[in-house]
Amino acid sequence: MNTLRKIAENFNKNIEILYDEPMSKHTTFKVGGNAAVFFAPHTIEELEQLATCLKENSQSFFVLGGGSNLVVSDAGISRAVICTQKINHIDTTAADSVSRDSLLLKCGSGTLMDNLAAFCEANSISGLETFSGLPGTIGGAVYMNARCYERSISDVLESVLYLNTQTGKTAVYRFNEQDWAYKKSPFQNSGNIILEATLKCSKGSAEQIKAQNSHYVEDRKTKGHFKFPSAGSVFKNNHAFGSPSGKIIDEAGLRGFSIGGAQVAPWHGNFIINTGNATAKDIHDLVLYITQAVKRKTGFELEPEIIFTGTGFDS
Ligand SMILES: Cc1cc2nc3c(=O)[nH]c(=O)nc-3n(C[C@H](O)[C@H](O)[C@H](O)COP(=O)(O)OP(=O)(O)OC[C@H]3O[C@@H](n4cnc5c(N)ncnc54)[C@H](O)[C@@H]3O)c2cc1C
Repeated sequence: MNTLRKIAENFNKNIEILYDEPMSKHTTFKVGGNAAVFFAPHTIEELEQLATCLKENSQSFFVLGGGSNLVVSDAGISRAVICTQKINHIDTTAADSVSRDSLLLKCGSGTLMDNLAAFCEANSISGLETFSGLPGTIGGAVYMNARCYERSISDVLESVLYLNTQTGKTAVYRFNEQDWAYKKSPFQNSGNIILEATLKCSKGSAEQIKAQNSHYVEDRKTKGHFKFPSAGSVFKNNHAFGSPSGKIIDEAGLRGFSIGGAQVAPWHGNFIINTGNATAKDIHDLVLYITQAVKRKTGFELEPEIIFTGTGFDS
C-alpha cells in the first residue's frame, strides 16, 4: 500500500477522506482523472493537523477550492488533495474605521462566493456585489486575485489568516498594495494555505444589494458563462496588446475551433468549453494551439490564467 494511503487510513477519523476520487466531479471543466486521496477537513484545526502530518511524512499536497480555474490532468493527482469547502464560516465584526457604516466580513477560505453573496443579501452588507456569480471559493478568489467588472479581490481585502507550511504555524497577512497586481497575489506559488479572508464591506440597503447581485449574475448568464462546463476566461488580458485576449483570439479566426471535445466558445474567444467529452489533454492542446496561432499572427504571447495540475502537467 502506498504511503499516502497508509497515512490517510490512520488519520483523524472525523475528517472526510475519499480514495480514487474523480476530479471531474470537483472541477467546473468536468475533466480530470482521480485524486489518489482527497481530504475534506471541517475546521481550520483539522486542516492544520493534516498539513503537519503530511509534512512530517514528506508528502506534498494540492489545495482545492471550487475547482473553477483548474484543469486536472487525465492521469489525475498523486499528491494529497486538500479540499477547503467545508471550512466555510462567515462572521461580521465592526471595522476599526472612521465610518460608522464600515464593517469587516471574516470568512473561511472554502466559503463559496454564491454563499457569500447570499449572506450579504440576508444581512444588508454591501461591497462584494461585483463578485456575485463568480464561481468558486473566497480562498481561490484571493489566491487568483479574481477580478470581476473592474474590481479585484485586492480592492476589498483587509487581511488573510494563512498556514505557513514552512513553519507549520498560522500567521496573519495584512493587505499591502505593493504585493498585488492584475490577477497576481502574494499567495501564488508560496505553498501556503489560505485559511480565512477578512473583507472590507459596509452596511447597505438589502434591496439594492439584491438587485445588484442579480444584475451581475444575469449579465454572466447573457454572456453564456454557464452554458457549458468551462473555467471562465482562459488567458489573461494584457494592456500592452491593445485589445482583450478574447478579441485577439476572435481576430485570429479561432472562434468555434475545436480539438476533441474542447472548443473555443462560438460566442466568446477567451472561453474554452467542454462540449461533452473533452479530456484534459484536449484542453491543454487547444490552449497550446491558440497560443501558437496568436503568436504567429500577431507576435503577442498570450498567458494562460487557468491552472494545469496533476500527473503530466506538474513540473
Ligand atoms: C463560468 C466562469 C466564470 C468565471 N469568471 C471569472 C471572472 O469574472 N473573474 C475571475 O477572476 N475569474 C473568473 N473565473 C475563474 C475562477 O472562478 C476564479 O479564478 C476563482 O476565483 C477560482 O476559485 P476556486 O475556489 O474555484 O479556486 P480553484 O480553481 O479551486 O483553485 C485555483 C488556485 O487557487 C489555489 N487555491 C484555492 N484555494 C486555496 C487556499 N485556500 N489556499 C491556497 N491556495 C488555494 C489552488 O491551489 C489553485 O492553484 C470564472 C470561472 C468560471 C467557470
